[in-house]
Amino acid sequence: MKRDKSQTLYESAIQYIPGGVNSPVRAFKAVGGNPLFFKSGDGAYLTDVDDNCYVDYVGAWGPLILGHRNEKVLAALQSQLDKGIGYGASTEAEVEIAKKLCSMVHSVELVRLVTSGTEATMSAIRLARGYTNRDRIVKFEGCYHGHVDALLVKAGSGALTLGEPDSSGVPKAYSELSHVLPFNDLEAVEEFFNKHGHEIACAIVEPIAGNMNCVAPIPDFLDLLREKCTEYGSILIFDEVMTGFRVAPGGAQQLFGVIPDLTTLGKVIGGGLPIGAFGGKKEIMEKIAPNGAVYQAGTLSGNPLAVAAGLATLETISGAGFYEALNKKTKSLVDGLKERADVAGVPLTINQIGGMFGCFFSVEEEITRFDQVMACNLEHFQTYFHTMLENGIYLAPSAFEAGFVSAAHGEDEINKTLTASEKAFAAIK
Ligand SMILES: *Cc1c(COP(=O)(O)O)cnc(C)c1O
Repeated sequence: MKRDKSQTLYESAIQYIPGGVNSPVRAFKAVGGNPLFFKSGDGAYLTDVDDNCYVDYVGAWGPLILGHRNEKVLAALQSQLDKGIGYGASTEAEVEIAKKLCSMVHSVELVRLVTSGTEATMSAIRLARGYTNRDRIVKFEGCYHGHVDALLVKAGSGALTLGEPDSSGVPKAYSELSHVLPFNDLEAVEEFFNKHGHEIACAIVEPIAGNMNCVAPIPDFLDLLREKCTEYGSILIFDEVMTGFRVAPGGAQQLFGVIPDLTTLGKVIGGGLPIGAFGGKKEIMEKIAPNGAVYQAGTLSGNPLAVAAGLATLETISGAGFYEALNKKTKSLVDGLKERADVAGVPLTINQIGGMFGCFFSVEEEITRFDQVMACNLEHFQTYFHTMLENGIYLAPSAFEAGFVSAAHGEDEINKTLTASEKAFAAIK
């Protein structure tokens, strides 16, 4: 597979862009080699600048649930383009998308649009702190909520110890207010809240962890969090920036039947354009400016192009049978992968919920914890990744990212992927 043009562009990129990429996840640091440069996408496929074509399981890191160049999304964008790009003032479509989000996600009574998932979680946390008049927050190991200072904290030596910054440049004073608990650990939640609950402004969690590959909550985990937050007057925030509309029309909260106080959204709700949103209980959301004292603003918030692409996407995924089809397709993919790994004698565990999936090169039968994720065989993943890439399958260049199947993926694409996987599993020794 020729990669000359990608290579030349990369050499040029590193002269002007730190590391040659505008988001570190795009680098190939974890898998070796240099990132590819792409020139177009269509349906389930991506084409790189050297004219190599790939079945795409990254989907722009989540937004493209309908695949590339979806007809309805393109038409909505074209129609808005004819009317202008942005006004910095209110529009009818903005009201429509807010109404649509509130009708899809039942816990959301009022919603504010922002421009990224990071902004959504940052604002939701500020709001939770303003509403409760408390400073401390709880997050979970392995969950990613954007590059917000207070959230770039991982577990230290123990679950209940104060967090340590995961990123340099985060003031210690911030990270000390962020407590990190192990994901799916009922005892840790119980114990921590019983001790410190009255000081906690909010607990923020990915209801399905999609940033340590793909890890579902164990039964009772989300219920317990809900119970403890209610007991101690802390706000429960579900970060559904990734899970929002990947697993059910009402988000993971609908799937698991647990109602958060606030929800953050992004990715899918912009159909591929920059957007984010946070919303929830009216009583809490009323505390945001201009009604309340918690300040939050954005020049590009509710941008008409992003709203148009988002609305077209949300309308399409609300159609009857959308999630059944997505789930069935994704299941046929992961079942096929598992079968082939077994035949090749490669230890593999796969988690799948709706259109999200995660392959773990692990002997564990079930993956529910961060330490299990970290113990996966990274060499196996590297071989798998590069062999899949050579055979026209584009996966995220990291063993810790979830994969996404879109509505544009069909039997052909799944079969191509399974055929490529036979070579990839055979290459693992
Ligand atoms: C991607 C992601 C974010 C951050 O969104 P950006 O638009 O990249 O800022 C936050 N939370 C979760 C769960 C995400 O997957």
